[in-house]
Amino acid sequence: MKPGVPSPGMAARLGVTIDKRRGVEYHELRSKDLVNKFNGRPMPFGWTVNPYRGCEMACRYCFARYTHEFLGLNDPSAFERRIYVKDADRDRLVAELRRARRSGQIVAMGTATDPYQPAEARFEVTRRVLEAARVVPGLQLSITTKSTLVTRDAALLREISAATEVTVNLSITTVDAALARRLEPRAPRPDLRFAAMKELAEAGVAARLFVMPILPHLTDDEPNLRSLLVAARDAGAVGAESNVLFLRPGTREVFFEFLAIDFPRLVPEYERLYRGSAYAPPEYVRETEARVRRLAHEVGLSARRRADRPDQRSPRQLSLVW
Ligand code: SF4
Repeated sequence: MKPGVPSPGMAARLGVTIDKRRGVEYHELRSKDLVNKFNGRPMPFGWTVNPYRGCEMACRYCFARYTHEFLGLNDPSAFERRIYVKDADRDRLVAELRRARRSGQIVAMGTATDPYQPAEARFEVTRRVLEAARVVPGLQLSITTKSTLVTRDAALLREISAATEVTVNLSITTVDAALARRLEPRAPRPDLRFAAMKELAEAGVAARLFVMPILPHLTDDEPNLRSLLVAARDAGAVGAESNVLFLRPGTREVFFEFLAIDFPRLVPEYERLYRGSAYAPPEYVRETEARVRRLAHEVGLSARRRADRPDQRSPRQLSLVW
């Protein structure tokens, strides 16, 4: 990959600029498939759906930032300001979802970028995927989001749930709105995300808390984790799942720059934890995940680590497909 140059195969897919608003550009991205077979590192799903590339919510720790590099975009702010909207043909979507259903594997929406980010209010690509899913009963569908916009589709999700296993994972890292604003500048406040979780649960849609990522020395303390789990329980969540921060190249630089400005005292500790690796040391991970499980048990919510769910990759293919 050359800096500033789209990767081979990607250049031909870059379409026209659709619009500019609020300092955000929207571009069309002609996708080969919107429902993609996933064969990257071990993951508990077999298919991914990411209707958008880039995300305006701009979380400092967003692991998907590197995906803009394939488009030839190396400026970190481009990930937040240049959003690519994939096209979604209904017949093709239905055919792709049928293929995924035949595999018996989970179709996961929002594995890289948020399917209910602000662009969705305008372009409704996620909505079109769900409308296609409505006519493919028997799927296993999981949707991960930080956005309250998911409640727009509560009735449709409920309808799909009658014949398909659907879970909506609300990603909430802290109950502290001020900290959330710094970590996730344009995502809805944590209390609003819990309200969305409650609305979905009351509509009969299974909702789960994703405590992802857990950030060392920022959100890993017992009071925060307990408050998240209590709020999820009270909102009617079916359970919680957690994962410790993963700092891959592309995210690491952005996150350390953020730390240096907002939490300079933590820089040496993060340098120690993430020295030479995108992962925190196993002992830290074990201890933190055990804390989540113990607290979840205490508050009466089931909890699991993401690593607890079985790997659903096909052994034949080896890379993340967009
Ligand atoms: S909401 Fe998700 S996709 Fe969007 S910036 Fe945050 S972590 Fe990334």
